Amino acid sequence: MDLDELREALGPAEPPYRVRQLYHGIYGRQAAGLVQISNLPAALRADLAARHPVGLPEVERVYRSADGTLRYLLRLEDSRTVETVLMPEGDRDTICISSQVGCPVDCKFCMTALLGLERSLTAGEIVGQVLLVTRELKVHRADPQGRLNIVMMGQGEPLLNLPNVVKATRILLDPAGFALSPRRITISTAGIIPKIDELGREPVRPKLAISLNASTEEMRQELMPITRKYHLRDLLDACRRYPLRPWERLTFEYVLLGGLNDSDSDARRVVRLLAHLNAKVNLIALNPGPEIPYRPPAEERVAAFQAIVRRSMPCFLRKPRGLDIYAACGQLKRSLA
Ligand code: SAH
Repeated sequence: MDLDELREALGPAEPPYRVRQLYHGIYGRQAAGLVQISNLPAALRADLAARHPVGLPEVERVYRSADGTLRYLLRLEDSRTVETVLMPEGDRDTICISSQVGCPVDCKFCMTALLGLERSLTAGEIVGQVLLVTRELKVHRADPQGRLNIVMMGQGEPLLNLPNVVKATRILLDPAGFALSPRRITISTAGIIPKIDELGREPVRPKLAISLNASTEEMRQELMPITRKYHLRDLLDACRRYPLRPWERLTFEYVLLGGLNDSDSDARRVVRLLAHLNAKVNLIALNPGPEIPYRPPAEERVAAFQAIVRRSMPCFLRKPRGLDIYAACGQLKRSLA
């Protein structure tokens, strides 16, 4: 619930500061339950708890990687399960959250596609993933939020669940709510063009990353069938008109598939496609999976590709995290590890 909904839930008799106390208690202080929001009168808490249970997704199972990554298999109210990944690294923690159970996008290199779409997550379930992992982090960290980054790159296509994603990110970004800086949350899309425009009109919004994954229209349509509807050229037009804030760049993700989209010419075409944009490129070497018909790129190809792109724009290689527990990019399919 956002502030307006909480106001409604409390009823007109309660003064506005009560609504703010409740909102701050849940999202700001991340109280585990209403009992912990002790500045609210006990009778009010009891009445609220009876009508609106406050709770987090249930942790069904936690998988631990040798590299410190944790994959949480979460059980939702309707018993469906979805995944959230925590990647601790140096002086920061990154939480990768899901926006849907499964995914409708059907990219040929991604294991989540094999689940299909089961349903979209509610705003509560999206924020709930963050609150849950933050609560776990509090055991070890004095100030978990000070070192937190969030990426919406788990199961699902966030822009096909835009109302709930926007509602959730507003709560996460609200200084009176979870109070995260907009520089620290990124949502990633396969390129749902009309929704990119819609997101751009939001006054409060996270950063945007776009899964490019190919250097030609033809290859992109082969790898990402949804792009037969949302063409590369139109996507780049949408990127050109996207209202970036002064501190912001668009991130483009590019999965390198051995022998398929990892040549020098691909790299040069990527540069040409993105040259006129304020862009940054994140390369991801394919994380293989039993059902995925592609192979990872040779190390030498990754280095050469990065060197070419880097001459024109920032270009980073994303280090795989949690490969041994099926927690890395493209591996979220509730696999047992
Ligand atoms: N649906 C959104 C959010 C998911 S982000 C999107 O498409 O952007 C998941 C990221 O992981 C995407 O950039 C995708 O290209 C990448 N990815 C998917 N499968 C992968 C795999 N097997 N290996 C490496 N990266 C993969």
